[in-house]
Amino acid sequence: MAATDLAATATARRDALKQVLAQARACARCPELAATRNTVVFGSGNADAELMFVGEAPGATEDERGVPFVGRAGKLLDQLLDEIDLTREAVFVANVLQCRPPGNRDPLPIEIDNCHEYLLRKVELIEPTVICTLGNFSTKLLRGDSTGISRLHGQDEVRIIGPRAVRLYPLYHPAAALYTPSTLEMLRADFHRIPDLLALGAPPQPAPVQPIPELDEQPEPMPEPEEPPAAGEPEPAAQLGLF
Ligand code: URA
Repeated sequence: MAATDLAATATARRDALKQVLAQARACARCPELAATRNTVVFGSGNADAELMFVGEAPGATEDERGVPFVGRAGKLLDQLLDEIDLTREAVFVANVLQCRPPGNRDPLPIEIDNCHEYLLRKVELIEPTVICTLGNFSTKLLRGDSTGISRLHGQDEVRIIGPRAVRLYPLYHPAAALYTPSTLEMLRADFHRIPDLLALGAPPQPAPVQPIPELDEQPEPMPEPEEPPAAGEPEPAAQLGLF
């Protein structure tokens, strides 16, 4: 593809991602989460990232600030990125859920289901080559089975996520490593393999299939266009880092 076509595609993907953000900000598919959240934590970072992380759900700090992984687990994520010469601006970070479950309870299956489509759209539009799942929830969701993180961490495999083939790389959740030195050591060792995975480049892509439906083509009622951000809520551009 010519450089100008590539740039046009990148711009179109970025614009489409902003559309998905606008829909997410108005989402009420999970009534309890919509009623209790302060912000929708869509994800943040580079819309053209080769490397994407998928955690579990926003916690209290993320819910306040509208940005994923900005609490203690996020500080550890930043430190591990720094150790492999990467920054948050170079990657994209998202979660299985975009809204904080009250009291930090586990995500419910229906909530995971409701939010799955948003995650697939992010993968489709960002086009990462490597996706690191952080912990059990994202690993089980994106692998589509119940095998736990302690059996899978550090083992990359090519998986089809939405319309794309990616290198899926399960890692322990940084929160699990905060208080358990042996888990931190395993997370760090696995993390240090990420540059090698990135160096492999994208896996062969499947033949194009039907694109996943636009969110607003879903049978259930779709959110109205987003409201302007409430006082104190971050502007979308801030929420998305490099947008
Ligand atoms: N834990 C997560 O899984 N995601 C966040 O955004 C913060 C903590």
